[in-house]
Amino acid sequence: MLECKEKKHVVYIGLGSNLGDRGENLLHAIEKIEERIGQVVATSAFYVTEPVGFRSDNQFLNAACEVETSLSPLELLDVTQSIERDMGRLAKSHDNVYSDRIIDIDILLYDDLIVHYPELTLPHPHIQERTFVLLPLAEIAAGYIHPVLHKTISQLKGELPL
Ligand code: AMP
Repeated sequence: MLECKEKKHVVYIGLGSNLGDRGENLLHAIEKIEERIGQVVATSAFYVTEPVGFRSDNQFLNAACEVETSLSPLELLDVTQSIERDMGRLAKSHDNVYSDRIIDIDILLYDDLIVHYPELTLPHPHIQERTFVLLPLAEIAAGYIHPVLHKTISQLKGELPL
């Protein structure tokens, strides 16, 4: 019998949507993640949050999920970006200028890997300052130690400004 020896990695992914049927968009993205990335072992509740970094009347719905994958970090980025494209996201943010979007998928943590590639930074560089990331992430990864900041996700959430 063939044994699968591919190494599995634990990845936390952040999701956001503020256009259309936001809940349906998040569910659709999670389905695609299960199909193309690996088994989704935990999913947070969906949180209503205000847009950060730009003005919009459309509130976001945000979530986080934990996935087991054998994809490398760059393969994973390729797939998350193809899911964004397939779901109709037209523009990426440029120079930190953000806009409304059907779906945004961020790779938050990949095992305890630290990388700085031109197209990918891990852990995601804005985890610690974003309520919309830390609320859902703390629900499914409270005790996970941020490999750069050496604090748990729960501690980082506790340090957010009120
Ligand atoms: P976005 O915020 O989705 O518009 O992404 C902007 C750019 O961030 C993308 O083109 C990615 O190449 C880059 N990026 C860097 N690090 C990450 C990460 N950890 N997860 C997702 N995108 C990332």
